[in-house]
Amino acid sequence: MTNKTASPLYITMDERDNVAIVVNDGGLPADTVFPSGLKLVEKIPQAHKVALVPIAKGEAVRRYNVTIGMALKDIPAGSWVHERLLEMPDARGLDNLPIATVKPSPMPALDGYTFEGFRNADGSVGTRNILAITTTVQCVSGVVEFAVKRIKEALLSKYPHVDDVVGLEHTYGCGVAIDADGADIPIRTLRNISLNPNFGGEVMVVSLGCEKLQPERLMPAGSIPINDQRGETLDVVCLQDDAHVGFMAMIDAIMTTADKHLQRLNQRRRETVPASELVVGVQCGGSDAFSGVTANPAVGYCTDLLVRAGATVMFSEVTEVRDGIDQLTSRATTPEVAQAMIEEMAWYDAYLARGNADRSANTTPGNKKGGLSNIVEKAMGSIVKSGKSPISGVLKPGDKLKQKGLIYAATPASDFICGTLQLAAGMNMHVFTTGRGTPYGLAEVPVIKVATRTDLAHRWHDLMDINAGTIADGSKTIEAVGMEMFQLMLDVASGRKKTWAEHWKLHNALVLFNPAPVT
Ligand code: CA
Repeated sequence: MTNKTASPLYITMDERDNVAIVVNDGGLPADTVFPSGLKLVEKIPQAHKVALVPIAKGEAVRRYNVTIGMALKDIPAGSWVHERLLEMPDARGLDNLPIATVKPSPMPALDGYTFEGFRNADGSVGTRNILAITTTVQCVSGVVEFAVKRIKEALLSKYPHVDDVVGLEHTYGCGVAIDADGADIPIRTLRNISLNPNFGGEVMVVSLGCEKLQPERLMPAGSIPINDQRGETLDVVCLQDDAHVGFMAMIDAIMTTADKHLQRLNQRRRETVPASELVVGVQCGGSDAFSGVTANPAVGYCTDLLVRAGATVMFSEVTEVRDGIDQLTSRATTPEVAQAMIEEMAWYDAYLARGNADRSANTTPGNKKGGLSNIVEKAMGSIVKSGKSPISGVLKPGDKLKQKGLIYAATPASDFICGTLQLAAGMNMHVFTTGRGTPYGLAEVPVIKVATRTDLAHRWHDLMDINAGTIADGSKTIEAVGMEMFQLMLDVASGRKKTWAEHWKLHNALVLFNPAPVT
């Protein structure tokens, strides 16, 4: 049912809901009659909500069996229920939440799945073999970009087992209040990204010299396990060193240092490892009302498969789970995990309040055009990416993972900041769902993109890796798409397949989360 002549169809998320979303491509005209007998009183665009019953002024509008708003006027059955008809409820308070009340019966272990990965000295596993060049400050970015281009042209062909060379560029490092509250977040984020499993522990740094973020502060002694084993110290090329006479001397120094690391990276080989070595970061961007119906539930099913296989899954995006905090605290494995989640939410509430904003600042014009009326509705669709598994840990922004299972990694919802923080946590596989469509990609880790609608998957046939729109079409189940995603992850992790973002080399910038002031 993917074309305009298909029979009219809507999807209800819960039997207690009084709205549903229109599935048909192009939306449906007034006077359309659904198989249930419901008749549209006006045209409703695809993915937008239809009132299933008359809703009186002041009555709750329910989707996912959650109040997504109060009706601002009487809404007849068959009407288009858009954001202008809804008053958003206040955020759920952070007191008296259900704590670790849900005790799901343990799901059976999923054994026997493996992939071909690069085992590191610290035990972590990479899905790609990349030389990353860490930078301490934005000032050196132009030079590092030049050097990376030269390395690719002149050196990389000598090292066939190395996939790529990446400059870890960012806007931090100087002009910042480096000792302010919160400044530790961007610093540890950058440190931990440099240690991402895809880089094999081969850390090299390009520094300017006079910047606030000195190399020793970024990567203090003992922070690089592989250096400790070899008795080496941090490899730094400092552009202001007297030894560099002229620009090409800087480039030569970077290339000589890179060559040493490339030689060692080139000795890495893929080996068969259990699927439990996957560290998957899930997020969504450019969401529509289908996100929470097709792609995100499929991700949720895949999340449960991964957790059953002993792997690690991070879900994030504070403002997109804030309205479902009670669902999360109840699924925590221990009261401590629930409390840690509440602390992250409270921290973020205060962070937004500093700018006189709240979680409602999250939704975009595209979200609303895609049928999502407000952040409550968006959050309910976003949270399903976490599946049904118990939540066994919480990670602060910029921290590195220390445990497996389903982890709440607290990050902003901004696609680039969330991806950057998940990289720092140690992600070796990224899954990204989109309804409106975004060509998002990262140079550091493969990104599997999942379309929420068949229309988008067809238009962007060479950008989207999985079409979850088949779930709305009725041609595939959530479980089938979730299993397809799991299998694709194993293939991509093994290097047997590339994602479309890798194929086209679509790379978004790293964006460090800096809640501290700049100077
Ligand atoms: Ca996002």
